[in-house]
Amino acid sequence: MRLVIVSNRLPFTARAENGQLQFQTSAGGLVSGLSTYLDSLRDATPLQQAHLWVGWPGVTIPPALQRELGRRARREFSAYPVYLDEATMDRFYHGFCNRTLWPLFHYFPALASFEEDDWRTYQHVNQVFCDHLRKILQPDDVVWIHDYHLMLLPRLLKQQFPTLPIGFFLHIPFPSFEILRQMPGAWREALLTGLLGADLVGFHLPDYATHFLSAAREFLGWKERRGIVQTPTHAAHIGAFPMGIDYEKFSRAAASAETAQAGGELRRALQNARIILSVDRLDYAKGILNRLRGLEVFLEKNPAWHGRVVLCLVVVPSRIGVPKYRETKREIDERVGEINGKFGSMTWTPILYQYNFLPFHQLVALYRLADLALVTPLRDGMNLVAKEYVATRTDQTGVLILSELAGAAKELRDALIINPNDTETLAQTLRAALEMPPREQRRRMRAMQKRLAQYTVVHWAQDFLRVLRAG
Ligand code: UDP
Repeated sequence: MRLVIVSNRLPFTARAENGQLQFQTSAGGLVSGLSTYLDSLRDATPLQQAHLWVGWPGVTIPPALQRELGRRARREFSAYPVYLDEATMDRFYHGFCNRTLWPLFHYFPALASFEEDDWRTYQHVNQVFCDHLRKILQPDDVVWIHDYHLMLLPRLLKQQFPTLPIGFFLHIPFPSFEILRQMPGAWREALLTGLLGADLVGFHLPDYATHFLSAAREFLGWKERRGIVQTPTHAAHIGAFPMGIDYEKFSRAAASAETAQAGGELRRALQNARIILSVDRLDYAKGILNRLRGLEVFLEKNPAWHGRVVLCLVVVPSRIGVPKYRETKREIDERVGEINGKFGSMTWTPILYQYNFLPFHQLVALYRLADLALVTPLRDGMNLVAKEYVATRTDQTGVLILSELAGAAKELRDALIINPNDTETLAQTLRAALEMPPREQRRRMRAMQKRLAQYTVVHWAQDFLRVLRAG
């Protein structure tokens, strides 16, 4: 049996430079999680399993280079690129994906646009993926499709391959059906029947699965029994599979020489201040502005902490083609400047701000240095940063402050759980975290680490595929 993974992006980005192809590994939770699982399959001899990955290689590849890219992608990455031009992918990604689905599914309906052209492009790209897969798929393959970019694909494929096991996993929240009601009826029906083309539809949380089932009942009139929706063609199973992390990789990296070197440089730059860490992609849903407001109130109320604490704020550039993201970036820049101007001095800057991606060992070094991690999304399907921070705290010190609106809060009950809109409590919790006795830090970290070490990203993928194969 071959496992065919399908996602918007391949695990690498290809570039054509002076007529030569260059590959660069893609970053992000989905790629690193699935790559870990595929590596575990490679290591698990003799039960090795063939797999391949289908997705867009990140740029327009001129026809003259497509053959070479296809050959090298297959040989070096077991990957099959879907060729789409950048202009189409730009309309697809910055259009229906991130101006319609993303805000709606993260409970920002006021930011959602409903453009007929965007919807057409979304349908077109899903169809191109289907056409491409038709040329590749074999009768005993198992297909696993990922995320909100490809919600129409399960049904398109099911129509072509009625007996092929098809799984779909949504990496973002699935909202209440009342949110979906904002969308034109024909679109939401196409999305729901699109997903229900799969034999198994997986979500991070049982709540998301419940919302999906109520949307299927409300808008399609399709009822569920014991987590199964009987569609006209097949039984679609709906389940919750909270995505974990590669726990070993993060806890091992915490003690590595590369991390120690990156950490040493940072420690010298930060002197003896206590460190609060904030790391996210640029996104209004991540609640970065709420976090800054919480810090501001904390500094207003706790002058004794002035000069003794620093917020390391890392914002990773993302979706800058969408106007709301540009606006959020501008607001963050302004707030950081205002807070530093208001409280800073010649010898102390409260917020150190980096608008750039951190490579793995630098990220782990920051996790290791941070006395507390401040993870305050307004809505987040899961949030892997929170889990990774916990995994690197091998001496079991450190405090995680986590929003109740992150999927991870359902598992990490021993974090200090806050509501990101409650600025007063956020400021008080910052102080409580900075003053938490080491014994309590250890008790909380130990409990969270136990959970994360038990249910890793490999368990997540194994569970999903076991249920899919069991049909
Ligand atoms: N990440 C990284 N470098 C950075 C910031 C983030 O490698 O500078 C990684 C991080 O390790 C995590 C992922 O990006 O695995 C972010 O996943 P998360 O679920 O927290 O948020 P998403 O970006 O998927 O919404």
